[in-house]
Amino acid sequence: MQDEFKIDTVVIGEGDRTALDVFKKIMKDNKVQRVVKTEKPEIKEIPEITKPALFGVTEITRGCGKGCQFCSPTMRTFYSFPLEKIKKEAEMNARAGSKMVVLQTDDLFLYKHHERFVPNRDAIVELVNTIGKIDGVEYLQPAHAALPPVVYDPKMIEEIAPMLVEKGRWKCHGRKVASVEVGIETGSVRLIEKHMHGKALPLEPKDWPEIVTQAVGILNDNDICPLATLVVGLPDEREEDTIATMELVDDLWGSEIFYVPLFFTSEEECLLSSARQADLRRLSEMHWEFFATCWRHNINIWAPDVSSKVAVASALLYPLYYRWKHGAKIGKAIKILGGFEKSSMIEGD
Ligand code: SF4
Repeated sequence: MQDEFKIDTVVIGEGDRTALDVFKKIMKDNKVQRVVKTEKPEIKEIPEITKPALFGVTEITRGCGKGCQFCSPTMRTFYSFPLEKIKKEAEMNARAGSKMVVLQTDDLFLYKHHERFVPNRDAIVELVNTIGKIDGVEYLQPAHAALPPVVYDPKMIEEIAPMLVEKGRWKCHGRKVASVEVGIETGSVRLIEKHMHGKALPLEPKDWPEIVTQAVGILNDNDICPLATLVVGLPDEREEDTIATMELVDDLWGSEIFYVPLFFTSEEECLLSSARQADLRRLSEMHWEFFATCWRHNINIWAPDVSSKVAVASALLYPLYYRWKHGAKIGKAIKILGGFEKSSMIEGD
């Protein structure tokens, strides 16, 4: 790919310590290696940004430490940045005309967390309210959040929700709401324990499905409608795991949530970097059913008015393309997506 796109140098990792030298060498016409792997910076080497960032992105934490095996941020050293630095960067973004500040983090609730990933309610509430009150910030969007801290400390959600909703830019069923990306990944306790044992902290992995349903309920009660990733094709995934995830989607049926079902990707910088990637060709009939059920849910909740158009498109797509490309195993998925049939896992509506 590097040759195909005529890219001279690829820099992999955090840039703070190493990337500057790469740019200096290039400016002086010195030769730079084809691939540069960077060294980890210490927190004092991470500078304040001095020019506005796209979407007003302002970094509040870096790294994670919960150790999910498919995840690259967890390989980085964890830092929470001082509120003063975050505030200065957000103010600079707002002064430069950015109406939105995105709080860049892999989990808002990691910010200045206590031991065992217990959320620091005071620090998080102060952060959200301080940045939300900056002149010119019309929208405040945390990039990611974890679900277990929501269940661990629902009062924290009650305290940050008013500011997030006031500065939210989304609508659900005609009312203003906030959103944040969360990782459900799977409904299978077996896969959680195998590949992402720390994900449920400060709670227990064995309770994962209940943690997810409770957290989504608490978020919805506070007008926060999460966008949730789900991963298909994790290493050693079995049919029983897909069924567990379908059952979780069933339990959440009707919740104000937007699903983003994804294929497992073995990222360069993660513990499962040599594992086989998932792809369309290897999807089972149940996987197709799962994808269709997620998108049927999304249409029902977020765009009920386009439902009939999707039904027509599905009816046309099936014979014209997907059946030819992927065979009979996607027939049921197309019917679910078009609203002609319910998933065998989903009873109610
Ligand atoms: S909880 Fe999220 S950010 Fe942390 S290791 Fe797991 S996937 Fe990565």
